[in-house]
Amino acid sequence: MEMTDFDDSLDDNDVSVGAIDESGARQAVTQLLKALGEDVEREGLLHTPQRVARMYRELLSGYHVDPAALVNGALFEIRYDEMVLVRDIEFYSLCEHHILPFMGRVHVAYIPDGKVIGLSKIPRIVDMFARRLQVQERMTRQIADFLSDLLSPQGVAVVVEGMHLCSMMRGVKKHDARMTTSAMHGSFRTNHATRQEFLDNISRGAGPLQL
Ligand SMILES: [Zn+2]
Repeated sequence: MEMTDFDDSLDDNDVSVGAIDESGARQAVTQLLKALGEDVEREGLLHTPQRVARMYRELLSGYHVDPAALVNGALFEIRYDEMVLVRDIEFYSLCEHHILPFMGRVHVAYIPDGKVIGLSKIPRIVDMFARRLQVQERMTRQIADFLSDLLSPQGVAVVVEGMHLCSMMRGVKKHDARMTTSAMHGSFRTNHATRQEFLDNISRGAGPLQL
């Protein structure tokens, strides 16, 4: 796959701004390979620095998404005050401690207060925060804060279930590799029944996290 675009997937809006220093990243990967004792001239590694630099451009493109362009045209004034729930949004991120992937599912719910957002935008908001160097706790909070600021809803809830390769690959106890984090705002925080309805919904019918 050619990775010349930040954003070749979901719609036509170009929401990316800025870029990484690709040649700097290429040189750094070469240096890293040398420091790791590799022969950077061997065939398998010849194009690795370039591939890695491009890969990071894609995997870290979330820093360069313009949020205003992302949500542009997808905010609607509507009288609806029941829970809006989007479950099982797949995400892939990189842990900032090891630059190894963590991935899993995000569940997002909110109770509108006059404003809703097009459903297809929610996975893109998740991507905007996942495609960065992250820790799962912060990513969870950023998604919730973003929706709170954007929609001023009665409440927002975000639950993230992630599996962390840095734990799985490094011989740490396996049960540490799986993590659930949550951020609850507004009525999801203050109203037990609302929070419980959300939690029941996301546990119902969902298989165990499999990747
Ligand atoms: Zn890590």
